Amino acid sequence: MGLVASPAVALVVQKFGGTSVADADRMREVADHVKRTIKHGTDVVLVVSAMGKETDDLLKLAAEVSDIRPGREMDMLITAGERKATALMSMALFDIGVPAESFTGSQAGFLTDTTHTNARILEIRPDRVRESLAAGRVPVIGGSQGMSTERDVTFLGRGGSDTTAVALAAALDADSCELYTDVSGVFNADPRLVPGARRVDKISFEALLEMTATGCPKPAMRSVEFARNHGVTLHVRSAFTWEPGTWVVEEDPTMEHALVTAITHDTSEAKITLANAPDEPGVAATVFRRLAERDVNVDMIVQNVSAQGHTAISFTAPHRQVDICLEIMPALSEQLGSGEVTVDQHIGRVSLVGAGMQSNPGVAARMFEVLAEAGINIEMISTSAIRVSCVVREDRVEDAVQALHAAFELDKPLV
Ligand code: ASP
Ligand code: MG
Repeated sequence: MGLVASPAVALVVQKFGGTSVADADRMREVADHVKRTIKHGTDVVLVVSAMGKETDDLLKLAAEVSDIRPGREMDMLITAGERKATALMSMALFDIGVPAESFTGSQAGFLTDTTHTNARILEIRPDRVRESLAAGRVPVIGGSQGMSTERDVTFLGRGGSDTTAVALAAALDADSCELYTDVSGVFNADPRLVPGARRVDKISFEALLEMTATGCPKPAMRSVEFARNHGVTLHVRSAFTWEPGTWVVEEDPTMEHALVTAITHDTSEAKITLANAPDEPGVAATVFRRLAERDVNVDMIVQNVSAQGHTAISFTAPHRQVDICLEIMPALSEQLGSGEVTVDQHIGRVSLVGAGMQSNPGVAARMFEVLAEAGINIEMISTSAIRVSCVVREDRVEDAVQALHAAFELDKPLV
Protein backbone atom coordinates (compact mmCIF):
# COMPACT_ATOMS: atom_id res chain seq x y z
CA MET A 1 0.00 0.00 0.00
CA GLY A 2 1.39 3.36 -0.93
CA LEU A 3 1.50 6.32 1.35
CA VAL A 4 -1.43 8.65 1.06
CA ALA A 5 -0.42 12.27 1.43
CA SER A 6 -2.75 14.05 3.78
CA PRO A 7 -4.28 17.06 2.05
CA ALA A 8 -2.63 20.30 3.13
CA VAL A 9 -4.81 22.32 5.46
CA ALA A 10 -5.76 25.65 3.96
CA LEU A 11 -4.09 28.65 5.56
CA VAL A 12 -5.27 32.23 5.49
CA VAL A 13 -3.72 35.38 6.93
CA GLN A 14 -6.45 37.71 8.20
CA LYS A 15 -5.51 41.32 8.89
CA PHE A 16 -7.82 43.63 10.82
CA GLY A 17 -7.45 47.40 10.58
CA GLY A 18 -7.89 49.88 13.40
CA THR A 19 -11.65 50.40 13.08
CA SER A 20 -12.20 46.63 12.93
CA VAL A 21 -10.68 46.18 16.40
CA ALA A 22 -11.60 49.58 17.83
CA ASP A 23 -13.26 48.33 21.04
CA ALA A 24 -14.12 45.23 23.05
CA ASP A 25 -17.25 44.45 21.02
CA ARG A 26 -15.38 44.67 17.77
CA MET A 27 -12.64 42.41 19.12
CA ARG A 28 -15.25 39.82 20.08
CA GLU A 29 -16.81 39.99 16.61
CA VAL A 30 -13.44 39.43 15.01
CA ALA A 31 -12.79 36.51 17.36
CA ASP A 32 -16.12 34.96 16.33
CA HIS A 33 -15.18 35.32 12.70
CA VAL A 34 -11.81 33.65 13.28
CA LYS A 35 -13.55 30.80 15.08
CA ARG A 36 -15.95 30.34 12.14
CA THR A 37 -13.04 30.30 9.68
CA ILE A 38 -11.27 27.59 11.67
CA LYS A 39 -14.49 25.55 11.89
CA HIS A 40 -14.56 25.52 8.10
CA GLY A 41 -11.19 23.81 8.14
CA THR A 42 -8.86 26.74 7.50
CA ASP A 43 -5.95 27.66 9.73
CA VAL A 44 -5.74 31.35 10.59
CA VAL A 45 -2.85 33.69 11.26
CA LEU A 46 -4.08 37.04 12.57
CA VAL A 47 -2.47 40.43 12.08
CA VAL A 48 -3.91 43.39 13.94
CA SER A 49 -3.51 47.16 13.74
CA ALA A 50 -3.63 49.48 16.71
CA MET A 51 -7.17 50.00 18.06
CA GLY A 52 -9.15 52.82 16.45
CA LYS A 53 -7.21 56.04 16.19
CA GLU A 54 -4.55 54.97 18.65
CA THR A 55 -1.61 55.48 16.26
CA ASP A 56 -2.72 59.08 15.67
CA ASP A 57 -3.18 59.59 19.42
CA LEU A 58 0.32 58.31 20.19
CA LEU A 59 1.80 60.59 17.54
CA LYS A 60 -0.07 63.55 19.03
CA LEU A 61 1.05 62.66 22.52
CA ALA A 62 4.68 62.52 21.46
CA ALA A 63 4.38 65.97 19.89
CA GLU A 64 2.93 67.30 23.16
CA VAL A 65 5.73 65.82 25.23
CA SER A 66 8.74 66.90 23.22
CA ASP A 67 10.11 68.69 20.19
CA ILE A 68 12.83 66.10 20.05
CA ARG A 69 11.42 62.79 18.94
CA PRO A 70 14.15 60.36 17.94
CA GLY A 71 12.99 57.73 15.45
CA ARG A 72 14.03 54.92 17.76
CA GLU A 73 11.81 56.23 20.55
CA MET A 74 8.93 56.98 18.19
CA ASP A 75 8.97 53.38 17.01
CA MET A 76 9.04 52.05 20.54
CA LEU A 77 6.02 54.25 21.27
CA ILE A 78 3.92 53.62 18.16
CA THR A 79 4.38 49.85 18.10
CA ALA A 80 2.88 49.75 21.60
CA GLY A 81 -0.50 50.36 19.93
CA GLU A 82 -0.37 47.14 17.92
CA ARG A 83 1.16 45.23 20.81
CA LYS A 84 -1.77 46.11 23.04
CA ALA A 85 -4.21 44.99 20.33
CA THR A 86 -2.51 41.58 19.94
CA ALA A 87 -2.80 40.72 23.63
CA LEU A 88 -6.45 41.80 23.85
CA MET A 89 -7.29 39.97 20.63
CA SER A 90 -5.73 36.77 22.00
CA MET A 91 -7.82 37.09 25.16
CA ALA A 92 -10.98 37.55 23.08
CA LEU A 93 -10.14 34.28 21.30
CA PHE A 94 -9.45 32.40 24.55
CA ASP A 95 -12.79 33.66 25.80
CA ILE A 96 -14.62 31.66 23.10
CA GLY A 97 -12.44 28.60 23.46
CA VAL A 98 -9.86 29.31 20.77
CA PRO A 99 -6.29 29.06 22.03
CA ALA A 100 -4.26 32.00 20.78
CA GLU A 101 -0.81 33.47 21.18
CA SER A 102 0.27 37.09 20.71
CA PHE A 103 3.55 38.04 19.05
CA THR A 104 5.32 41.33 18.46
CA GLY A 105 6.77 41.83 14.98
CA SER A 106 10.18 40.98 16.37
CA GLN A 107 8.96 37.72 17.90
CA ALA A 108 7.23 36.85 14.64
CA GLY A 109 10.61 37.10 12.91
CA PHE A 110 10.39 40.40 11.05
CA LEU A 111 13.92 41.62 10.46
CA THR A 112 14.07 45.17 9.09
CA ASP A 113 16.55 47.85 8.16
CA THR A 114 17.25 50.72 10.57
CA THR A 115 15.05 53.35 8.90
CA HIS A 116 13.02 54.24 11.96
CA THR A 117 9.35 55.23 11.50
CA ASN A 118 9.42 53.77 7.98
CA ALA A 119 11.46 50.59 8.13
CA ARG A 120 11.78 48.11 5.28
CA ILE A 121 11.49 44.37 5.76
CA LEU A 122 14.77 42.59 5.01
CA GLU A 123 13.82 39.06 5.96
CA ILE A 124 11.11 37.08 7.73
CA ARG A 125 11.80 34.05 9.87
CA PRO A 126 8.35 33.12 11.16
CA ASP A 127 9.46 29.99 13.06
CA ARG A 128 7.47 30.87 16.16
CA VAL A 129 4.37 31.56 14.07
CA ARG A 130 4.70 28.13 12.46
CA GLU A 131 5.19 26.48 15.85
CA SER A 132 2.16 28.23 17.20
CA LEU A 133 0.05 26.97 14.29
CA ALA A 134 1.43 23.46 14.65
CA ALA A 135 0.45 23.52 18.33
CA GLY A 136 -3.13 24.33 17.32
CA ARG A 137 -3.10 27.98 18.34
CA VAL A 138 -4.00 31.13 16.47
CA PRO A 139 -0.92 33.34 16.24
CA VAL A 140 -1.86 37.02 16.64
CA ILE A 141 0.84 39.31 15.25
CA GLY A 142 1.30 43.02 15.78
CA GLY A 143 1.16 44.76 12.41
CA SER A 144 3.65 47.21 10.98
CA GLN A 145 6.58 46.28 13.20
CA GLY A 146 9.84 44.40 13.38
CA MET A 147 13.34 44.40 14.76
CA SER A 148 16.20 46.14 13.00
CA THR A 149 19.67 44.83 12.20
CA GLU A 150 20.71 46.96 15.22
CA ARG A 151 18.20 44.99 17.34
CA ASP A 152 15.94 47.97 17.91
CA VAL A 153 12.17 47.90 17.59
CA THR A 154 11.06 49.36 14.25
CA PHE A 155 7.78 50.59 12.78
CA LEU A 156 7.02 49.87 9.10
CA GLY A 157 5.14 53.14 8.59
CA ARG A 158 1.51 54.19 8.32
CA GLY A 159 -0.60 51.45 6.81
CA GLY A 160 2.24 49.02 7.45
CA SER A 161 -0.02 46.34 8.91
CA ASP A 162 -1.20 45.48 5.40
CA THR A 163 2.42 44.85 4.47
CA THR A 164 2.96 42.70 7.57
CA ALA A 165 0.00 40.55 6.58
CA VAL A 166 1.06 40.16 2.96
CA ALA A 167 4.66 39.41 3.92
CA LEU A 168 3.51 36.73 6.37
CA ALA A 169 1.21 35.23 3.76
CA ALA A 170 4.18 35.01 1.38
CA ALA A 171 6.54 33.57 4.00
CA LEU A 172 4.02 30.99 5.21
CA ASP A 173 2.83 30.20 1.68
CA ALA A 174 -0.74 30.94 2.72
CA ASP A 175 -3.59 30.41 0.29
CA SER A 176 -4.65 34.02 0.55
CA CYS A 177 -4.35 37.18 2.56
CA GLU A 178 -7.57 38.84 3.69
CA LEU A 179 -7.41 42.54 4.48
CA TYR A 180 -10.43 43.44 6.61
CA THR A 181 -11.41 47.07 6.77
CA ASP A 182 -14.43 49.32 7.29
CA VAL A 183 -15.44 49.34 3.63
CA SER A 184 -16.57 46.32 1.67
CA GLY A 185 -13.77 46.33 -0.90
CA VAL A 186 -12.16 48.44 -3.59
CA PHE A 187 -14.60 50.87 -5.20
CA ASN A 188 -14.49 52.27 -8.73
CA ALA A 189 -14.60 55.81 -7.27
CA ASP A 190 -14.62 57.26 -3.77
CA PRO A 191 -18.16 56.51 -2.48
CA ARG A 192 -18.08 59.74 -0.46
CA LEU A 193 -17.91 61.70 -3.73
CA VAL A 194 -19.86 59.41 -6.01
CA PRO A 195 -23.06 57.87 -4.63
CA GLY A 196 -23.15 55.42 -7.57
CA ALA A 197 -19.62 54.12 -6.92
CA ARG A 198 -19.52 50.33 -7.20
CA ARG A 199 -17.39 47.67 -5.64
CA VAL A 200 -15.00 45.96 -8.04
CA ASP A 201 -15.24 42.19 -7.60
CA LYS A 202 -11.89 41.35 -9.13
CA ILE A 203 -8.94 43.53 -10.07
CA SER A 204 -5.36 42.98 -11.22
CA PHE A 205 -2.36 44.01 -9.11
CA GLU A 206 -1.34 46.43 -11.86
CA ALA A 207 -4.67 48.25 -11.92
CA LEU A 208 -4.89 48.42 -8.12
CA LEU A 209 -1.31 49.72 -7.94
CA GLU A 210 -2.21 52.55 -10.31
CA MET A 211 -5.27 53.26 -8.17
CA THR A 212 -3.34 53.37 -4.89
CA ALA A 213 -0.67 55.54 -6.54
CA THR A 214 -3.32 58.05 -7.57
CA GLY A 215 -5.36 58.43 -4.41
CA CYS A 216 -7.19 55.19 -3.55
CA PRO A 217 -6.35 55.02 0.18
CA LYS A 218 -6.63 51.29 0.83
CA PRO A 219 -4.94 48.89 0.73
CA ALA A 220 -1.52 50.45 1.33
CA MET A 221 0.45 50.62 -1.92
CA ARG A 222 3.51 48.89 -0.47
CA SER A 223 1.43 45.86 0.47
CA VAL A 224 -0.01 45.61 -3.06
CA GLU A 225 3.51 45.78 -4.52
CA PHE A 226 4.66 43.11 -2.12
CA ALA A 227 1.68 40.92 -2.98
CA ARG A 228 2.33 41.28 -6.71
CA ASN A 229 6.04 40.52 -6.34
CA HIS A 230 5.37 37.40 -4.28
CA GLY A 231 2.19 36.20 -5.95
CA VAL A 232 -0.01 36.59 -2.85
CA THR A 233 -3.73 36.61 -3.63
CA LEU A 234 -5.43 39.46 -1.75
CA HIS A 235 -9.01 39.73 -0.65
CA VAL A 236 -10.04 43.22 0.51
CA ARG A 237 -13.25 42.94 2.51
CA SER A 238 -15.42 44.27 5.29
CA ALA A 239 -15.13 43.38 8.97
CA PHE A 240 -18.60 44.85 9.52
CA THR A 241 -20.77 43.04 6.96
CA TRP A 242 -18.41 40.08 6.37
CA GLU A 243 -19.61 39.90 2.75
CA PRO A 244 -17.15 38.91 -0.02
CA GLY A 245 -15.18 41.94 -1.18
CA THR A 246 -12.60 42.58 -3.90
CA TRP A 247 -10.16 39.91 -5.06
CA VAL A 248 -6.79 41.19 -6.18
CA VAL A 249 -5.14 38.70 -8.46
CA GLU A 250 -2.60 38.33 -11.23
CA GLU A 251 -3.82 39.48 -14.61
CA ASP A 252 -5.30 36.45 -16.36
CA PRO A 253 -6.74 36.03 -19.83
CA THR A 254 -10.24 35.35 -18.55
CA MET A 255 -10.40 38.71 -16.83
CA GLU A 256 -12.61 41.22 -18.50
CA HIS A 257 -10.61 44.15 -19.72
CA ALA A 258 -12.86 46.94 -18.66
CA LEU A 259 -11.99 49.99 -20.70
CA VAL A 260 -11.96 51.96 -17.48
CA THR A 261 -11.81 50.25 -14.09
CA ALA A 262 -11.95 53.24 -11.77
CA ILE A 263 -11.74 56.99 -11.33
CA THR A 264 -9.39 58.06 -8.53
CA HIS A 265 -8.55 61.46 -7.14
CA ASP A 266 -5.93 63.03 -4.95
CA THR A 267 -5.90 66.44 -3.32
CA SER A 268 -2.80 65.87 -1.20
CA GLU A 269 -0.40 67.57 -3.60
CA ALA A 270 0.62 71.09 -4.54
CA LYS A 271 2.00 72.36 -7.83
CA ILE A 272 5.39 74.05 -7.77
CA THR A 273 6.58 76.01 -10.78
CA LEU A 274 10.01 77.28 -11.65
CA ALA A 275 9.36 79.89 -14.33
CA ASN A 276 11.83 81.78 -16.43
CA ALA A 277 14.62 79.28 -15.85
CA PRO A 278 17.47 79.06 -18.35
CA ASP A 279 16.70 76.65 -21.19
CA GLU A 280 19.94 74.70 -21.28
CA PRO A 281 21.21 71.19 -20.57
CA GLY A 282 21.36 70.24 -16.91
CA VAL A 283 18.63 72.47 -15.50
CA ALA A 284 16.06 69.70 -14.90
CA ALA A 285 18.86 67.44 -13.70
CA THR A 286 19.98 70.00 -11.12
CA VAL A 287 16.46 70.77 -9.89
CA PHE A 288 15.30 67.18 -9.48
CA ARG A 289 18.60 65.91 -8.09
CA ARG A 290 18.38 68.54 -5.35
CA LEU A 291 14.76 67.60 -4.61
CA ALA A 292 15.65 63.90 -4.55
CA GLU A 293 18.45 64.56 -2.07
CA ARG A 294 15.82 65.91 0.31
CA ASP A 295 13.50 62.95 -0.35
CA VAL A 296 10.85 65.09 -2.00
CA ASN A 297 8.30 62.78 -3.55
CA VAL A 298 7.96 64.44 -6.96
CA ASP A 299 5.04 63.18 -8.96
CA MET A 300 3.93 64.79 -12.24
CA ILE A 301 6.49 66.86 -14.12
CA VAL A 302 5.77 69.19 -17.02
CA GLN A 303 8.28 71.33 -18.87
CA ASN A 304 6.82 74.01 -21.10
CA VAL A 305 7.88 75.01 -24.57
CA SER A 306 10.75 77.45 -24.26
CA ALA A 307 10.72 81.05 -25.35
CA GLN A 308 13.74 83.31 -25.73
CA GLY A 309 16.11 80.89 -24.09
CA HIS A 310 13.93 80.43 -21.02
CA THR A 311 11.57 77.70 -19.90
CA ALA A 312 9.18 76.78 -17.10
CA ILE A 313 9.16 73.52 -15.21
CA SER A 314 6.19 72.54 -13.04
CA PHE A 315 5.87 69.52 -10.79
CA THR A 316 3.58 68.23 -8.10
CA ALA A 317 4.68 67.17 -4.62
CA PRO A 318 2.86 66.40 -1.36
CA HIS A 319 1.57 69.43 0.59
CA ARG A 320 3.64 68.36 3.57
CA GLN A 321 6.83 68.70 1.50
CA VAL A 322 6.13 72.18 0.12
CA ASP A 323 8.25 73.75 2.86
CA ILE A 324 11.26 71.72 1.78
CA CYS A 325 10.68 72.75 -1.84
CA LEU A 326 10.52 76.40 -0.82
CA GLU A 327 13.76 75.97 1.05
CA ILE A 328 15.56 74.48 -1.94
CA MET A 329 14.14 76.25 -4.96
CA PRO A 330 15.13 79.91 -4.45
CA ALA A 331 18.77 78.95 -3.94
CA LEU A 332 18.48 76.84 -7.04
CA SER A 333 17.23 79.64 -9.25
CA GLU A 334 20.05 81.80 -7.94
CA GLN A 335 22.51 79.08 -8.88
CA LEU A 336 20.92 78.75 -12.32
CA GLY A 337 21.09 82.49 -12.90
CA SER A 338 17.34 83.06 -13.28
CA GLY A 339 13.94 81.67 -12.34
CA GLU A 340 10.88 82.50 -10.25
CA VAL A 341 9.31 79.99 -7.90
CA THR A 342 5.56 79.83 -7.31
CA VAL A 343 3.47 77.37 -5.31
CA ASP A 344 -0.14 76.52 -6.03
CA GLN A 345 -1.77 74.73 -3.10
CA HIS A 346 -5.20 74.46 -4.66
CA ILE A 347 -4.83 71.74 -7.24
CA GLY A 348 -6.25 68.25 -7.38
CA ARG A 349 -5.57 65.31 -9.61
CA VAL A 350 -8.18 63.14 -11.24
CA SER A 351 -7.15 59.84 -12.80
CA LEU A 352 -8.76 57.27 -14.96
CA VAL A 353 -7.39 53.73 -14.52
CA GLY A 354 -8.08 50.74 -16.77
CA ALA A 355 -6.15 47.94 -18.43
CA GLY A 356 -8.45 48.18 -21.46
CA MET A 357 -7.11 51.59 -22.44
CA GLN A 358 -3.82 50.03 -23.58
CA SER A 359 -5.47 49.08 -26.85
CA ASN A 360 -7.90 51.98 -26.96
CA PRO A 361 -6.38 55.33 -27.90
CA GLY A 362 -9.73 57.12 -27.62
CA VAL A 363 -9.93 56.96 -23.83
CA ALA A 364 -7.77 59.99 -23.11
CA ALA A 365 -9.60 62.07 -25.71
CA ARG A 366 -12.94 61.09 -24.19
CA MET A 367 -11.70 62.04 -20.74
CA PHE A 368 -10.65 65.49 -21.95
CA GLU A 369 -14.01 65.95 -23.69
CA VAL A 370 -15.93 65.06 -20.53
CA LEU A 371 -13.90 67.57 -18.52
CA ALA A 372 -14.38 70.21 -21.21
CA GLU A 373 -18.14 69.64 -21.26
CA ALA A 374 -18.17 70.19 -17.50
CA GLY A 375 -16.23 73.43 -17.99
CA ILE A 376 -13.22 72.07 -16.10
CA ASN A 377 -9.82 73.36 -17.16
CA ILE A 378 -6.94 70.87 -17.40
CA GLU A 379 -3.65 72.24 -16.07
CA MET A 380 -1.35 69.24 -16.37
CA ILE A 381 -1.65 65.82 -17.99
CA SER A 382 0.31 62.62 -17.48
CA THR A 383 -0.23 59.06 -18.66
CA SER A 384 0.98 55.53 -18.12
CA ALA A 385 0.04 52.41 -20.07
CA ILE A 386 -3.13 51.98 -18.04
CA ARG A 387 -3.79 55.45 -16.61
CA VAL A 388 -4.53 59.05 -17.63
CA SER A 389 -4.24 61.79 -14.99
CA CYS A 390 -5.29 65.43 -15.17
CA VAL A 391 -4.50 68.19 -12.72
CA VAL A 392 -7.47 70.52 -12.25
CA ARG A 393 -8.53 73.17 -9.72
CA GLU A 394 -9.07 71.56 -6.32
CA ASP A 395 -12.66 72.81 -6.07
CA ARG A 396 -13.54 71.07 -9.36
CA VAL A 397 -12.23 67.63 -8.37
CA GLU A 398 -15.59 66.38 -7.13
CA ASP A 399 -17.37 67.52 -10.32
CA ALA A 400 -14.66 65.93 -12.44
CA VAL A 401 -14.85 62.57 -10.66
CA GLN A 402 -18.66 62.52 -10.87
CA ALA A 403 -18.74 63.51 -14.55
CA LEU A 404 -16.14 60.88 -15.50
CA HIS A 405 -17.79 58.16 -13.44
CA ALA A 406 -21.06 58.80 -15.25
CA ALA A 407 -19.55 59.24 -18.72
CA PHE A 408 -17.67 55.94 -18.56
CA GLU A 409 -20.79 54.23 -17.16
CA LEU A 410 -19.05 53.00 -14.03
CA ASP A 411 -22.32 53.19 -12.11
CA LYS A 412 -23.79 50.40 -14.25
CA PRO A 413 -23.34 46.77 -13.26
CA LEU A 414 -21.09 44.80 -15.59
CA VAL A 415 -22.93 42.40 -17.90
N1 ASP B 1 -1.66 51.48 13.04
C1 ASP B 1 -0.77 51.89 12.02
C2 ASP B 1 -1.38 53.02 11.20
O1 ASP B 1 -2.47 53.40 11.42
C3 ASP B 1 -0.35 50.77 11.14
C4 ASP B 1 -1.47 50.15 10.40
O2 ASP B 1 -2.57 50.06 10.88
O3 ASP B 1 -1.27 49.71 9.27
O4 ASP B 1 -0.75 53.50 10.30
MG1 MG C 1 -4.56 51.80 10.73
